[in-house]
Amino acid sequence: MTIFHAIIDRKIPADIVYEDERLIAFRDIAPQAPVHVLFVPKQDFATLNDVPEDAAIVIGRLATAAARYAKAQGFAESGYRIVMNCNGDGGQTVFQIHLHLLGGAPLGHFGTP
Ligand code: 5GP
Repeated sequence: MTIFHAIIDRKIPADIVYEDERLIAFRDIAPQAPVHVLFVPKQDFATLNDVPEDAAIVIGRLATAAARYAKAQGFAESGYRIVMNCNGDGGQTVFQIHLHLLGGAPLGHFGTP
């Protein structure tokens, strides 16, 4: 049970921007860009390492939901970034897989200070 499961179960509040039977999307509590939304599947996987190939569609749905959201918000054409962190070296802090959508301003080239 992670904090994201508590959000899915409405045990703690979040600013939910999208939900369907398979995934939920809500604003990150500590945004790193003007738009910073987390896309979380309702199926449990602690890390990307735990997603078998026959469940790859779970990741695909997160990515396409993020793109749809960017289009609806009007910044798909100007651009955005999606990120998945994995385990300690990747900076993962919540162990239910999730995809970060960052956008709403020029983000610079990945890794450029
Ligand atoms: P990770 O570091 O695991 O890739 O990303 C976890 C993200 O969850 C972080 O960006 C963090 O700010 C966000 N986060 C942690 N706790 C909460 C919470 O209670 N509510 C929301 N909305 N975001 C959270």
